[in-house]
Amino acid sequence: MTAVSIKIKFSLFLAVLLLLTVFVLSLFVLRGIKEQQQLRMEKELLQQTRIANLSIKQAYLTSPPIEAQPFLRTRGQQFAMDLAVYSGLHVVLYDNSGKKVGDSVPLSSAYDVGDALAIALGGKIAYQREHEGDSLLYLTPLQGPDRQMGVIQFHYPLMNDIRFYDTIANLFVITGAAVLAVSFILGYLYFQRATSAIIALNLAAEQIRKGAFLASPPLRRKDELGQLSQGIYYMSSEIQGSMTAMMEEETKLRQAVEKLQKLEQQQKQFIGNISHEFKTPLTSIKAYSELMELYRDDTDLRNDALHHIRLETDRLHEMVDMILRIAALEKYDFEFHPERVDLREMLLDIAGRLKAKADRFGVTIVLHLEDAAIWADRESVMHILINLFDNAIKYNLPGGQIIVANRVEGDRVTVQIADTGIGIPAEARDKIFEPFFTVNNDRSRHSGGTGLGLSLVKQLVEKHRGTIELLDSENGAVFELTFPSFLSPTNKEVH
Ligand code: ADP
Repeated sequence: MTAVSIKIKFSLFLAVLLLLTVFVLSLFVLRGIKEQQQLRMEKELLQQTRIANLSIKQAYLTSPPIEAQPFLRTRGQQFAMDLAVYSGLHVVLYDNSGKKVGDSVPLSSAYDVGDALAIALGGKIAYQREHEGDSLLYLTPLQGPDRQMGVIQFHYPLMNDIRFYDTIANLFVITGAAVLAVSFILGYLYFQRATSAIIALNLAAEQIRKGAFLASPPLRRKDELGQLSQGIYYMSSEIQGSMTAMMEEETKLRQAVEKLQKLEQQQKQFIGNISHEFKTPLTSIKAYSELMELYRDDTDLRNDALHHIRLETDRLHEMVDMILRIAALEKYDFEFHPERVDLREMLLDIAGRLKAKADRFGVTIVLHLEDAAIWADRESVMHILINLFDNAIKYNLPGGQIIVANRVEGDRVTVQIADTGIGIPAEARDKIFEPFFTVNNDRSRHSGGTGLGLSLVKQLVEKHRGTIELLDSENGAVFELTFPSFLSPTNKEVH
């Protein structure tokens, strides 16, 4: 069922209200007319009565003395005619006994006035409606000089009065209908404006329900509808704000879940890798020790086996050390003792320490250093830089170079460690910082590598709010590190 529009309801209410007004007004007016007609009729009949009484009494007094009854019986018809002429009404006369003694319209149809006549004979005025109400019989005592002589009956026609009354009543009916129609139309037009505002508000609410929020209030008015419009607009903005916040939270949550899933995956892979990487040196140690047992007397073989056992044990030791460091970084509160670290000084120190190893590999170290200080954990930075230096030596070529440069840029300090070595193939670039990843396992193994160094380096760098990147280069590998400088406003917050 479709609801009736509010403008139809309002217009109908207005129309009915006005109709009611017209109705009440018509009641008063019609009653007034009726009273007025009654008054005029009574006045006229009283006057006619007075004249009739007067003329009959005068005729009676001036005629030879005779009883009232015979007087009336002989002259009644004449009196009735005279009075009818004078008053313009149909007049009937009765004597004291109630007998009709005169009638101005003798052939008029007979009617029964018994009760009214009895009342009039009793000295009182009586009314009776005749001819289905279109005339009134007015019966009034006819007074003689000393007592009542008979009764005068006037036929007062009501037709005109009734017609007038009906005309006015009809006029009110027509007026009522016109008022109903016109007020409904005018009301409809007037309320259309108000309801169009309500429709606009309704549309705005519908829009909000569908998630299309408002850019401005749907209406600008200075009344209650205007206030409602403002309210709807504020409500829309509030909902929009909360929805946006909710969506942001949801995105953050989703990202966190994804990160957790990735971490879990990485952890699984890490554990899988650990078991694999541990097995290899252990198998090798086991095999060499068995060989040693089998060929106790073969000194060369023993020495070779011992050498390999030593190498594999070193590798295992290195791996355990790295894994413990990584685990500590991930799981426990990393013991971070930040202080002012002079990078130039540290790089010079490391270059000095690794010079012997570089010489062994036939590699020269070239330094382009400037004064730069960072706010960091000394031991960690040392570990980071040694790892990168060491890789640059390990994966270099005889006669190659390591070029280390640093510079201060705003509140960051950048360190570049470039080498002229074997380089890193493009397809391995993304994986280089993953634990246990090695480009060439043999070479890495041969140089005592574990594939854990860069992974640990990256984590340590990030703990310092630093960055590490493998840059594009034609030959060799170029790693670029950045750290917040000692003077950076945020460096004191590093944990
Ligand atoms: P590893 O202990 O094997 O050196 P890292 O995590 O330090 O492990 O390095 C991962 C791998 O990245 C190495 O095995 C090597 O293949 C490659 N790599 C690292 N540094 C260099 C470099 N300077 N030049 C060429 N390859 C490198």
